[in-house]
Amino acid sequence: MSHPWVIMEVCGSQTHTLLRYGIDRMLPEEITLVHGPGCPVCVTPVEAIDQAVALAGRPDIIFVSYGDMLRVPGTEKDLLAAKAGGGDVRMVYSPLDAVKLASENPERKVVFFAIGFETTAPANAMAVSLAHQQGLDNLFVLTSHMLVPPAVRLIASSPDNQVQGFLAPGHVCTVTGYREYETIARECRVPIVVTGFEPLDLIQGVLMLVTQLEEGRHEVENQYSRSVRRDGNRQARAIMAEVFEVVDHKWRGIGLIPHSGLRLREPYARFDAARAFGLQDLACEEAGVCISGLVLQGVRKPPECPAFGTDCTPERPLGAPMVSAEGACAAYYAYRRQEGACP
Ligand code: SF4
Repeated sequence: MSHPWVIMEVCGSQTHTLLRYGIDRMLPEEITLVHGPGCPVCVTPVEAIDQAVALAGRPDIIFVSYGDMLRVPGTEKDLLAAKAGGGDVRMVYSPLDAVKLASENPERKVVFFAIGFETTAPANAMAVSLAHQQGLDNLFVLTSHMLVPPAVRLIASSPDNQVQGFLAPGHVCTVTGYREYETIARECRVPIVVTGFEPLDLIQGVLMLVTQLEEGRHEVENQYSRSVRRDGNRQARAIMAEVFEVVDHKWRGIGLIPHSGLRLREPYARFDAARAFGLQDLACEEAGVCISGLVLQGVRKPPECPAFGTDCTPERPLGAPMVSAEGACAAYYAYRRQEGACP
């Protein structure tokens, strides 16, 4: 190898595979892997958690969420604490469960916590569209949808950027395709390989990326071709575009990223829970001790956080990356704790 290379795997599921199978330690020492912002639970802003907790505490509301959001800390509480305090908080596996719950409980208001990247946005858009068609007036969605390419662009174009190539998230690209990444690769002069999540996917993705780096190329290549097409899934993109519009969005630990979020378009605005319940202007401070923003941008690794494994554990998390199944801190705690990476 002609040079030491720094590579970022963007997606938290990729991080977990790399650590679980020890792939990062099998690679030549010239290759350094750093972890990216692709954990939707980790980057959901504190404001959204506080809005969720406020709504979950209301007696007239059934608050519906995916299970991995229940323990994400807000400013003072998480959704589990709201449930323990008497809130009607229910866990679902699909946004269509929330639509069903709303039609079965017309006397209650049902709020669905719609978070995630381009992977969950189409199903959430479909649920809103269905509720619109059915004329449901007791379903609301608290949205915090983020888009991955603007975050990759932010990292790649930062003056302090150390990352020389990106493993792009295969599941997001299954929906969106990878044309947007082609623009980033060209303008930021970084190679990008759309990569899957199995150990062999990641090993092949790293090989393709290092080959580009060694040859001085900066293109988009598709390792995950068994799932990803250049234009993605047209139907999924169409329903997203019908229901949502692109806006600037705050990312937990990172801050505002231009054009990186989705909000409901005006014809669907009546479903917007933050608007319907007057919570749009809720502002909060993030916990000072958590360095998740640096972890999510590949600047620090979890064991470099002073709270890692001591004040912050999966049982008592201080930040979302220690809670989420895709969080980098949870991955290090699960797979590296035995090896002395944390106390
Ligand atoms: S170890 Fe905990 S406090 Fe430190 S960055 Fe990770 S989530 Fe935040």
